[in-house]
Amino acid sequence: MAEVHSAVVPNSVAPDALLESLLADCRAALPKCDEQLIRKAFDFCVDAHRESVRASGEPYYTHPVEVARIVAREIALDDISVAAALLHDVIEDTEFTVQDIQAEFGTTIADIVDSVTKIADIVENRTITEAETYRKLLLSLIRDVRAILIKLADRLHNMRTIDALPPERRHRIARETLDIYAPFAHRLGLANLKWELEDLAFKVLNPSAYLLVAKALQETRAEREAYIQRVIAPIEQHLRAHGLRFEITGRPKNLYSIYQKMLTRGKALEEIYDLFAIRIILETDDSNECYFAYGLVTQLYTPIPERFKDFIAVPKKNGYRSLHTTVIGPEGRPVEIQIRTRAMHEIAERGVAAHFRYKAEQGVSPAWNDDPELEEWIQWVRELFEKRSREEAAQEFLESFRLNLYQDEIYVFTPKGELKRLPKGATPLDFAFAIHTEIGHHCIGAKVNGRIVPLDYKLQTGDQVEILTSKHQAPSRDWEQIVVTHKAKSYIRRYLNEQKRLKQHEGQQLLEKRLRKLNLTIAPEELDRIAHALKYENRSALFYALGTGAISPEFVIDLLQTKSARAPENAPLPSAEQITEVARRHSTGIELLDTPTDGTPLLYSYARCCNPIPGDEIVGIITIGSGIRVHRRSCPNVQELLAANHPRLVQLRWGNVGEEQFLTALRITGDDRPGMLHNITKAILSCERTNIRSVNIDSYGGIFEGIFTLYVRNTEQLERIIEKLRRIRGIHTVTRFEGP
Ligand code: MN
Repeated sequence: MAEVHSAVVPNSVAPDALLESLLADCRAALPKCDEQLIRKAFDFCVDAHRESVRASGEPYYTHPVEVARIVAREIALDDISVAAALLHDVIEDTEFTVQDIQAEFGTTIADIVDSVTKIADIVENRTITEAETYRKLLLSLIRDVRAILIKLADRLHNMRTIDALPPERRHRIARETLDIYAPFAHRLGLANLKWELEDLAFKVLNPSAYLLVAKALQETRAEREAYIQRVIAPIEQHLRAHGLRFEITGRPKNLYSIYQKMLTRGKALEEIYDLFAIRIILETDDSNECYFAYGLVTQLYTPIPERFKDFIAVPKKNGYRSLHTTVIGPEGRPVEIQIRTRAMHEIAERGVAAHFRYKAEQGVSPAWNDDPELEEWIQWVRELFEKRSREEAAQEFLESFRLNLYQDEIYVFTPKGELKRLPKGATPLDFAFAIHTEIGHHCIGAKVNGRIVPLDYKLQTGDQVEILTSKHQAPSRDWEQIVVTHKAKSYIRRYLNEQKRLKQHEGQQLLEKRLRKLNLTIAPEELDRIAHALKYENRSALFYALGTGAISPEFVIDLLQTKSARAPENAPLPSAEQITEVARRHSTGIELLDTPTDGTPLLYSYARCCNPIPGDEIVGIITIGSGIRVHRRSCPNVQELLAANHPRLVQLRWGNVGEEQFLTALRITGDDRPGMLHNITKAILSCERTNIRSVNIDSYGGIFEGIFTLYVRNTEQLERIIEKLRRIRGIHTVTRFEGP
């Protein structure tokens, strides 16, 4: 395979040599290293990516190998992360699946690779404006901290090789690196990674400023190095004389931070003195030696007291520990000096990864909390690392290590890539209300990742959600059970209350109209008494019952005329017997459940709100004018009466309905394709003795919604029709329509 590639790409390195150099890096940097594992992951990687080539023209596998090298050298955590880094693009870019990786390398590595893939899948190539939300999104996708570290290494290598990409992509990736990944590296304490990411991004985003700073640094380099030597030499001598073992360096800060200083201070590079910091790294485990060394330095140079910072006693939240001081150096120039032990230095450069290898006792700085949750998480990671690193089985610990922050939140996208944060368990309805109240009110469904889902679908992080609306749609009571967000709940409730007021108004109008016809008037107190007699809370509730047709205005007027309302306890309600007496016609389609009937027909009518058909469970409400009104037991309009076991409610069953046909409606949604309507009507009419009364179809975004009103004999027949319809290609939902 190597020959084939080197034929295509002459400058590529042979895989064998690559593997050997990677192993050498691992041996040098890692405390222990399973070389078999790394060889195996390497072979898998080369084989899986053998077909593809990078934008630079090199074989693709060079990328994961270099990412693995960064993980080994610059993060230096463990061999598992090196192996996972080798495999990090396999799921995304090759035909291998997470199951394949699990079979070959076990759950831990498969999990890490899966996390890295999810990030690429969901996060990248989307425009995300809020950096903090983005960072949380990243965290919510990751269950193993090593996935973040690999992602950072991946980004670093992509930034190092960014020149091969077209300019627009370069710009977007650099922006993202500066806004998201560099701060992330900082939070995790990966200082070197952060600096390099910043400088690489800076170079792409503002090439002229980058060149300016780089050139100026270059030009002043000889002078600066000479100066650093003049500062360092006496320190070296003095410290050595006091028996300290140490390394001392002086090097410039990264270009981006120098540029930031120039901007914020409005000064030219030559006027900025803290371009570099002198660093004393003590070869000791005793942090007291740092203070001792500090004392020795201040014997040589005068410190500026207000610039002294003790990050040993009070570490930074990302785990950084060091003494910082600024002294007056030769020629009166201020010089920053950092003093730390070797272990502290490792942590400063490698952050959480180093915590895994070095135990460090530390407290928490309360001042540093721009994102308390994230800080808390990092603190938690660190504590786990520390606790565990005192013991032997750190590996085992890492395997069970799972991220548990932000697991109660999900992150989903609009079709335009805008990010929405929702609580776990949120549904498309919550999402619709999160976008706009109107969209919520008219939401009939949603496409998630291009597929139609029901309204109560539980959204997952990374879902792309497109809301489908219909002007005929309106919130209903069951929506309150579907949503979890406060916003959606309150809007639905508000809408339902508004509807209730409308019904009350209708009911009131209806009653007043009848009263006017009969030339009657009714005092409000009288109405209240009637309401109470009928076990309604107040007259508004009575109006509502009138508005929904639960009781008839005649019934109220009758009560008024018989004055029975004055004696509420004895309010005579018509008994079942009275009603059977009244009724002398009609079929025997409805029978009272607990009363033996002698075949005497009842006077009844079907409620229009729920259109019961034989087979439905039914109950009746006794009215005066129109006998028993038959409702479905599930009808929202009878729920209150049912709950209160109201005396006007009678239990019913279906009797002999003969040849009667019943009106019902179906709501059908599906792909809006040619011939769909024909398929639907054909399916409906193929059932014996079915008639379609009306069809009402709307279409939007390639999806149609149709309300089909039909005559059927019973629920059994209706079920058969629904079954047939569901089998039609492109049909999404078929449900009994309850009316708007
Ligand atoms: Mn990659």
